[in-house]
Amino acid sequence: MKICKAYEIEGRVQGVGFRPFVFALAQKYNLKGFVYNRSNGVYAEIEGNENAVKEFEFELENHTPPLALIDKIVANSISLKNFTDFKILKSEISYSKNTLVSPDMSLCPECLKEMSDTNNRRFGYPLINCTNCGPRYSIIHTVPYDRVNTSMNKFKMCPQCEAEYNDPSNRRYHAQPISCKNCGPAIKFYDLNGFNTTNDPLQQLALAINEGKIVALKGMGGFHIICDAMNEQTILKLRDKKRRKTKPFAVLFDSLEMIKKYCDTTKYEEEALLSQVRPIVLVKKKKQCALPYSIAPNTNRLGVFLPYTPLHVLLLDILKKPIIATSANMSGEPIITSRHEIEQKLGRIIEAYVDFDREIVNFSDDSVLQLVGKDTIFLRVSRGIAPKSFKTSYMHKEKILALGGHQKSAIAIFNDSNITISSHIGDLENMESIEAFERSIDTFKRFYDFTPSLLVCDKHPNYASTLWAKKQGIHIIFVQHHYAHILAVMFEHTINEEVLGVAWDGTGFGDDKNIWGGEFFLCDLKTYKRVYSFKPFKLLGGESSIKNIDRIAFSILYSLKDNAFAASFLDSFPKKERYLLEQAYKKDINAPLCCSVGRLFDAAAAIILKQKTATYDGESGLSLESLYDEDVQDRYDIIINENNEIEYAHWFLEMLQEKPVLAASKFINTLSASITHIAKKYKKKVVLSGGVFQNRTLVKKTMELLGKEQLFLPKTISPNDSSIALGQITYALNNPQTFEQ
Ligand code: ZN
Ligand code: ZN
Ligand code: FE
Repeated sequence: MKICKAYEIEGRVQGVGFRPFVFALAQKYNLKGFVYNRSNGVYAEIEGNENAVKEFEFELENHTPPLALIDKIVANSISLKNFTDFKILKSEISYSKNTLVSPDMSLCPECLKEMSDTNNRRFGYPLINCTNCGPRYSIIHTVPYDRVNTSMNKFKMCPQCEAEYNDPSNRRYHAQPISCKNCGPAIKFYDLNGFNTTNDPLQQLALAINEGKIVALKGMGGFHIICDAMNEQTILKLRDKKRRKTKPFAVLFDSLEMIKKYCDTTKYEEEALLSQVRPIVLVKKKKQCALPYSIAPNTNRLGVFLPYTPLHVLLLDILKKPIIATSANMSGEPIITSRHEIEQKLGRIIEAYVDFDREIVNFSDDSVLQLVGKDTIFLRVSRGIAPKSFKTSYMHKEKILALGGHQKSAIAIFNDSNITISSHIGDLENMESIEAFERSIDTFKRFYDFTPSLLVCDKHPNYASTLWAKKQGIHIIFVQHHYAHILAVMFEHTINEEVLGVAWDGTGFGDDKNIWGGEFFLCDLKTYKRVYSFKPFKLLGGESSIKNIDRIAFSILYSLKDNAFAASFLDSFPKKERYLLEQAYKKDINAPLCCSVGRLFDAAAAIILKQKTATYDGESGLSLESLYDEDVQDRYDIIINENNEIEYAHWFLEMLQEKPVLAASKFINTLSASITHIAKKYKKKVVLSGGVFQNRTLVKKTMELLGKEQLFLPKTISPNDSSIALGQITYALNNPQTFEQ
C-alpha cells in the first residue's frame, strides 16, 4: 500500500551530509518526495510502499552520517501527494532558529588522499574540504547553514565544483565551503620586511621557519604563531618578544610516530590525539626528550597535537619536523583572526605569515585536554567542539543568557530546551576580550534568533560580565561562583539529589565577601550550605599580588612566627619587603581573607621550589605535579577546627624541612585525603569542580582514595571557569520562582 509521511528532524543535521543521506535512502528504497533544510533542522516528505517507508525510517534513525547528531524525529502520516521523483529543495528561511550549529572539523581521510594524489584536480590544494570535513562554525554568519550565509559567499563556484555541489551522489554535494584552485580562496605569503616572492607560499614559510624566524599561519578559528620546535634560540626569542617567561608552548607534529619519539603516550591519549576534534593533548615528555627544555620548562608534560587543516599537513610535509604552534594573541586576549590584526599587534614579534582570503567569522582557539586513565579533563573547550549544545528536558519559555565568570570566559544560552555554550573567549581583563565577549553574545543572538529575557551572572560586583549585565535593563539573577561550578557538573551527570560539592579554584566572590576557593558544600539544585572550607589566610597585597606567590607563604607562616623554621623563612625576605608585609598583616591593610586552594598550591610552590613568582595561571600546580612520586603514601595531619575549617599552617612548616619530592607528594596526598575525610561524614555523591581540579595528579589520587563510583567530575566541560555559565543556567532552570512572578 502506498503511504506518505512527513519527517521533522532536529539536532546537528545541517552541514553534515544529512540531505544527501536522505536522498540516497530514498533512491535505495525507491521512494519519492523531497527533503530540505530549514531553520530548526531538516524537513522531508516521503512517499512510497509502506514497507519501504518503514525500512527508510529505520535507517534514518539508526544509520545517520558520522557527524550528525539527532535530537528528535517527528514522523506524521499525511495525505498522498503522488510525487513523481525525489528532490532536494532549497532551504527555507523561517524565524525559529534553533538548529545546532556544527563545529569546525579536521581534514578527513578522503580529502587527505585527494590532496596527495597528483592526478586529482585538488592535488596540493591547501583549502580542500568536503561534507565530512572543513570549516563550519568559523565561517558562518547566520543559519541556515547555506553558502550565502557563510564567508564563502564571495567565491563563485567553477563549473566543476558546481557540478559536484549539485550532484547528490557526490561527496561534496552541498558542501558549503566547496572550492578548488580555480574558484576558491587562495593562500598568500607576506614578508613583513617587504621582501616579496613568487615562490610557493608554504615553501617560503617553511624556509623562514628553517631560518629560525618566527612566523604566523592562518588556521581554522584563528592564526597560530609558529616557529621551529627544535631551535632553542628561536624559542627563547619568542619567549622574550611575547613576554611569556615560562608558560608552555604547544607543539604540532606531523604524525603520532613523531610524537612518540619525544613523549610517552597511552592508548587513550593516542585516541584523543587522532580523534576528529584533534585537540592539544597534554602528555608525558620522555625522560630523555630531545626537544628544547624551554618549550615547557619546570614541567614533565607537553601539549602536543596533530595537523587538522590541509594547510598544516602541507607545511609539515615540507618541514618534516615538529613546530611550536601557539594561538596568535597578546596574553589574555582573544585569538587573532585577520591579517590586519596580525600586522598591527604582532608585527613586532613575527617576520612573515601566510594568510588566505576565506574570512574567519567566528574565532576559536585549539581545544586542550588531558587524560587520567580513560577519563578526560578538558582544559579548554573550543575548536572542533564549540559551540557545544545540550538538549534538556526543561520546558521554560524564558530565554536565558548566562554570562559566566571573569577568567576563561564563556557564555551560555537557554533557548527552546537547548543549552548552548560558546567557545573560549579569554580573560575579561582588557578591551579586546570584552569586545569578543560582546561579539559572542551578538553571534548567539544571530544564530539562534535569541533575545534574552533573563540574565544570570556571578555575584562578584566588579566582574566585567556582571557590570555588562547590569547595563542591559533585563532581570538578572546572581549565582555564587563555586555553587555554579558544582551545578554545572550536576547538570552534566543529571544529578538531582543532595551532594557533597567540592569546589576548589583560584578565586571567587564568597557570600561573606571574602575570597573563596576551598569550599565543601552540601547542595542540591536549589540551594547550598557551606559545610567546610579551608581556614582563611590574609592575602597580602590583595588579588592584584597573587603573582607574588612567596607572599602567600609568608602570610601563612607568619601565624607560626615563633617557630624557628618559620622564622628563618620569614627572615629570608629582604628587610624592607618583610617590614611592609608585616605591617599589612598586622594592620589588615589591603589584606583580604582568602581560602582558595589555588593559592595554597602557590604557597607550596614558593616553599618547595623556592619560587618567588608565578607567571601564568596553573604554573604552581603543574610544577608540583612534576615532582609527585607515586611511591610516597605519607601525608600531613588533617586538622579541622571548631569553625569547620581545615588547618594547614603545620603542613607548610613541615614542608620547610622536607625534600621537594616528599613535600610535593605529601601536599597532594593530603589534599586528596581531606576530600575523603569529609566525604566519609556524609556518604553522598561527591562532585568535584573548579580550576584546581585541572590538576590530573590530584584527580587521580582522589579517584584512588575515594573510588570512582562516588565521584563525579566534569566530563565534556572543563572544571575551570569556562563552565560557570552552564552552572548559572542550571540554577535559573531549577529556580523559576526567582524570575517568574
Ligand atoms: Zn573531507
Ligand atoms: Zn572550483
Ligand atoms: Fe572558579
